[in-house]
Amino acid sequence: MNDDHDHDHHDHAHDNHYSDMQARVKALETLLTEKGLIDPAAIDAIVETYETKVGPRNGAHVVAKAWSDADFAEWLKRDATAAIVSLGYTGRQGEHMRAVFNTAETHNLIVCTLCSCYPWSVLGLPPVWYKAPAYRSRAVIDPRGVLAEFGLTLPEEKKIRVWDSTAELRYLVIPERPDGTDGMNEAALAGLVSRDAMIGTAIAGSAKISAAGSPEALP
Ligand code: FE
Repeated sequence: MNDDHDHDHHDHAHDNHYSDMQARVKALETLLTEKGLIDPAAIDAIVETYETKVGPRNGAHVVAKAWSDADFAEWLKRDATAAIVSLGYTGRQGEHMRAVFNTAETHNLIVCTLCSCYPWSVLGLPPVWYKAPAYRSRAVIDPRGVLAEFGLTLPEEKKIRVWDSTAELRYLVIPERPDGTDGMNEAALAGLVSRDAMIGTAIAGSAKISAAGSPEALP
């Protein structure tokens, strides 16, 4: 398969039309649809599932474990590639991961200014906006403005650090653990972590206190 994430060997001047691979996929989809063999809505549903559910759940597991296990968090800081592989999420050969931790002082945001490099082993497929030229350029020039458009307004004193992904190095944002989540187990914590929170265009969700007095994830 053609690797469109290789910055050194690939022409990126194809933002407004299909890449070879996209054109081939589109042609195949059209043909199969015309023959009545597939339902495009079903294909969309599958893509949506991988974009928003299956893939990002891997990353949410990584984040929840980091929140729950200080040793794992330390490992993740030191060698994210190995720490993530230990949970069974493996990338392609030669791909390295770095986990960037949000703190009270600093918020992290991920972009690929050249194309669409993305930590797919933990987040699945990138959202369409991640690949859009507007996001790729503006995330660097005006990160605070971009975050505001995502509905995330950070305090002026909070520093925003932007990380530019490459074919060799991909980033995963570890959001701050929300307040009121002390009694929550890993699975419930993972439920607070959205895909966007791990890209840095959102923060982790909040917990509510159940009738039984223990915190649980909001739907
Ligand atoms: Fe890229």
